[in-house]
Amino acid sequence: MRIDEKTVAELRKLGVDVRQGISLADETSLGIGGTTHELLLERYETIPDVMRLLDARKIPHRFLGGGTNVLIADGELPWVVLHLPKAKPGMRVEGNTAYVDASADLGGMVTFCAKHDLGGMEGLIGVPGSVGGALRMNAGAYGTQIGPLVREVELYRASKGEIETLRGADIHFDYRHTSFAPDDVMLRVTLELASKPYREILAGIRVCNEKRRASQPLNQKSAGCIFKNPPGGSAGRMIDELQLKGHRVGDAMVSDRHANFFVNTGHASCSDMMKLIDDVRERVHGAFGVELENEVIFWQN
Ligand SMILES: Cc1cc2nc3c(=O)[nH]c(=O)nc-3n(C[C@H](O)[C@H](O)[C@H](O)COP(=O)(O)OP(=O)(O)OC[C@H]3O[C@@H](n4cnc5c(N)ncnc54)[C@H](O)[C@@H]3O)c2cc1C
Repeated sequence: MRIDEKTVAELRKLGVDVRQGISLADETSLGIGGTTHELLLERYETIPDVMRLLDARKIPHRFLGGGTNVLIADGELPWVVLHLPKAKPGMRVEGNTAYVDASADLGGMVTFCAKHDLGGMEGLIGVPGSVGGALRMNAGAYGTQIGPLVREVELYRASKGEIETLRGADIHFDYRHTSFAPDDVMLRVTLELASKPYREILAGIRVCNEKRRASQPLNQKSAGCIFKNPPGGSAGRMIDELQLKGHRVGDAMVSDRHANFFVNTGHASCSDMMKLIDDVRERVHGAFGVELENEVIFWQN
């Protein structure tokens, strides 16, 4: 994706750091992805102007958080990637309420709140990525999801070109699904949390970390679970029953530790990973009659 010099200059005036020819393989936990321009935003206040400029110049764009739940196509990509301002993301608490910028690290937010004796998010501790990505995905683990804790979300509503604040009660959070519009950009969240002593929260965090370490290939490149669990079932269990752990296409492999984690063991391409995903989906469908839905988000070219 090319951006003409005039637009680059205007973006720079808005404080955007424009980086050319960036490999997104270096920015995703799967280590897969083609190349494009990357726009690093400096201030939240300029986001509407930046977005309007990109829309006016018809430059397709996507927001990348921590890159831990995306599978990105190979080759030169026909859209640019945007990053929220990352330097010192704002986090503060007042009573039982936490105010957090969407670029903050999710785990960092959990521990920050824990230090203020605010808990209920222990299950989220090992979910990598940003607060914005967690809101978009309604991230969850070990019985906790971020959605029910949300009091308000401040977002840039691309369809109106404006910043809006939505009440948590007006947002539909479902299993790895939310009612945000596809082009909404999460900017900040307000969470309502339960009072809990730090030591108790820490004990809960340790239990969750231990469970993760015992079951997940944390030292390999992955995007967490590839498929959503079907209602009442477990995608990992079905894949495991088909003895597909270790099954591979090129360097893309079904983890031998957790059957719903697909890992990049070396230089897997997006096409290798897609083939593996489709192959496993077909086998599960053939054996169990269940059509697995992707949890990982595919960004095609
Ligand atoms: C080892 C491992 C373990 C994992 N375990 C879990 C788990 O237990 N539970 C779980 O739910 N997930 C898990 N995941 C998946 C992933 O960490 C979560 O989905 C996470 O919330 C994604 O956040 P991110 O910032 O990395 O999002 P990204 O991967 O960067 O983006 C995901 C989607 O969110 C959008 N997005 C990101 N930021 C914004 C924003 N500010 N505004 C609007 N849209 C945005 C992107 O455009 C994209 O559509 C795991 C992943 C790994 C690698």
